[in-house]
Amino acid sequence: RFITLEGGEGAGKSTQLRALAAGLRARGLEVVETREPGGSEGAEAIRTLLLTGGADRWSPRAEALLFAAARADHIEKTIRPALARGAWVLSDRFLDSSRAYQGQGALSDSDILTLHRIGSAGFLPDRTLLLTLPEAEATGRAKARDGDAEDRIGGRASDFHRAVADAFAQFAMDEPDRVRAVDAGGTADVVTARLMDAIKDLLP
Ligand code: C5P
Repeated sequence: RFITLEGGEGAGKSTQLRALAAGLRARGLEVVETREPGGSEGAEAIRTLLLTGGADRWSPRAEALLFAAARADHIEKTIRPALARGAWVLSDRFLDSSRAYQGQGALSDSDILTLHRIGSAGFLPDRTLLLTLPEAEATGRAKARDGDAEDRIGGRASDFHRAVADAFAQFAMDEPDRVRAVDAGGTADVVTARLMDAIKDLLP
């Protein structure tokens, strides 16, 4: 099974990915933990290109193509082989992050989906867990982690992050079977239990 975790910064995706992986391993499953952009040698090299050189290094279109190229390599080299041997794959971000982030700029959602169809034959997760947190709480957590300046996370203003959150919420409404919104509030253990519950129909 292929499961992706999505949500804005500060929602606890990385922590929850580790906890969910541990929970699945305790059930005897092989679990591969991975992330986007990255998750394969080539995609990690593209990640470095994307995350270095400053925010203005890439135009929005070039950036979207790089994310799509990274994802194509990640799927081909890491995700499909793992699924083929029966492992579960958990990815910290995937296509929906591109739809939510790169979809805010020059490209529409259907453009992003077209890039994904060309790059990866439209390959989708079995389930996408969307970690949701009220904005103030997410900002507080992200700041505590990154020490970012007020009103900005990852160098971007709060209305950008609101638009990203709205986009994620829309995906959950459009594809309720694949995308499940999960409340990320409360202790880490409580959130992990909610996530487990949201994939229990997929367990062997
Ligand atoms: O929360 P995380 O550390 O995964 O966030 C990394 C950053 O990468 C996000 O703040 C987001 O701005 C950016 N990103 C993006 N498009 C993606 C994935 C991540 O812009 N497809």
